[in-house]
Amino acid sequence: MRGLRRSFTFFMGLTLLVMATGLLGCGSYKKNASGLGGGSSYQKESGAGCGTFSEWLPQGAVIVIDAGHGGIDGGVSGKATGVKESDLNLAVAKKIKSLFQAAGFSVVMTRADEGGLYGSTERGFKLRDLNARRSMIQAAAPTLLLSVHMNYYPPGGRRGAQVFYQKGSIAGRALSVAVQSELNRLSERPYSALCGDYYLLRNLPVAACLIECGFLSDREEEKLLISEDYQAQISYAAFKGSISYLFFAAQGGRE
Ligand SMILES: [Zn+2]
Repeated sequence: MRGLRRSFTFFMGLTLLVMATGLLGCGSYKKNASGLGGGSSYQKESGAGCGTFSEWLPQGAVIVIDAGHGGIDGGVSGKATGVKESDLNLAVAKKIKSLFQAAGFSVVMTRADEGGLYGSTERGFKLRDLNARRSMIQAAAPTLLLSVHMNYYPPGGRRGAQVFYQKGSIAGRALSVAVQSELNRLSERPYSALCGDYYLLRNLPVAACLIECGFLSDREEEKLLISEDYQAQISYAAFKGSISYLFFAAQGGRE
């Protein structure tokens, strides 16, 4: 796969570049302490025709990061190592969270540890877990929701990250296309964002996408997904695609 030798440092450098320029590619910015939701923001020091995050982001923008599964629901397992999807989802979700927080966003995680949200493990725990996540998302009223998962294709032979959105969601589609475009840079095989029907995303008035970071049914990709470096690359792609979408949306959806 392309770009696998890129270091985490390189990606953090790119992240700082994105944060510093607000994706507008000009000017010089410094961090101050009076940004969104009590967090920090970036103020322009010089340069013309550029904006800061605080200039184009919706007031009080909140990002929800959902690490799929957890607790007795481990999701799928790695074919080679048996690694649990739920653990990898959490690792990637935490990295995405750090990127958004470093850029001054308020971030809500649906889960911050290995536990699920179902309460009792009695029958129906999966639905209780999803309902708890939905309640958290609705309470946070986020600008954007990213749900992190790992894929599995029993016959094997599939690799790469795929992004899905709730059928009929225009904002979800726009976000998914932007995130998929960034994730495709990491893969030999480009995918298109696809729609489906996801209980978690049904009737949510928020730009949301479900990111399947890669296939645990592929031994080589499993190795990558376990590595901190590749997790950082996936996280950065999700972050960068999200910022592209937010900027696009802030312009009223104009190209
Ligand atoms: Zn999953």
